[in-house]
Amino acid sequence: MRPMRFMRELPKVELHAHLNGSVSFQTIEKLIRRKPQLNIEHSMTAIGKGQRRTLDECFQVFKVIHQLVDSEEDIFMVATDVIKEFAADGVKYLELRSTPREETTTGLTKRRYIETVIKAIQQCKRERVDIDVRFLVAIDRRNGSQVAMETVQLAEEFLLSSDGLVIGIDLSGDPTVGHGRDLLSALQKAKDSGLKLSLHLSEVPSQHDETDLLLNIPPDRIGHGTFLHPEMGGSQGLVDKVVQNNIPLELCLTSNVKGQTVQCYAEHHFKYWYQMGHPVVICTDDKGVFATDLSQEYKMAATTFGLSHEAVWKLSQQAIDYIFAPDSVKEQLKQKWRDLQPQEFK
Ligand code: 5GP
Repeated sequence: MRPMRFMRELPKVELHAHLNGSVSFQTIEKLIRRKPQLNIEHSMTAIGKGQRRTLDECFQVFKVIHQLVDSEEDIFMVATDVIKEFAADGVKYLELRSTPREETTTGLTKRRYIETVIKAIQQCKRERVDIDVRFLVAIDRRNGSQVAMETVQLAEEFLLSSDGLVIGIDLSGDPTVGHGRDLLSALQKAKDSGLKLSLHLSEVPSQHDETDLLLNIPPDRIGHGTFLHPEMGGSQGLVDKVVQNNIPLELCLTSNVKGQTVQCYAEHHFKYWYQMGHPVVICTDDKGVFATDLSQEYKMAATTFGLSHEAVWKLSQQAIDYIFAPDSVKEQLKQKWRDLQPQEFK
């Protein structure tokens, strides 16, 4: 079977997808039509093939998208579109993450923001879209300790009231701003109340102390972890902590290459962790902004690192073990993978 067709038909798990970074060209088109007065063009919301940006420029892109997505109506449309696009790409289980925002001009509150994402998930369920979607409430590190604590409190409420849809916390936002020590107590509180934690760690160099501190919690998964290992300026001590706690890494190849934290695909830290046999999950990060999808990310990993179709199948299947939903969901997904497994891999 041709590689791209194999990757598209492969059942997949997506564990690292920021809602507003995942907005497709088509949805941006609809948003631009809704808000022509903003004079926003497509070139301002996505980084095309062969293009690269500094990480700082990437964060400017998110600000533009946030201007376009500032009401309950927008969030509902964006979330339903994103969920359906992931489903169309063969994603069977998706953990979406997003930072609740309030917008005085549209009356949006953080609580309504989360409720609207939940409504979108429920709507897709009603329409029988073939995908199980969960939600991680994101903390933007830029906003400091008090906002982090308030976000955790909101997430705790939804953990109890959303019928299993809100299951965790994401720590993200510009990694060059703020320090993890200020967020430690909020993250610890989240963990103690049963929320799962996915933390962006060592996404840029020189975060050794912060990473070391946050690994003590420990998080349930790590986003990126680009500069954890010694070859990238991290340390064996950090690697040991990750390995001893068996913390899976969410790896986003195109995002890291286009955002220039990784020089080229061949130098991506996927290789380091995969060769070690440590749990890794291929993810998109921001499929809209980086103009990719999960099938393309799997294909890129396969061609760059010489993975057979069978190895790719295993990689997607193993991702089930690292989801935040309970064991009963893992069992359902494993059954789905068994049903879809090509004869030659059985
Ligand atoms: P949202 O939370 O608004 O749905 O998605 C966009 C936000 O996700 C950005 O403003 C940023 O806080 C976070 N984000 C998206 N991609 C990345 C990334 O690659 N690294 C980090 N640290 N944060 C990101």
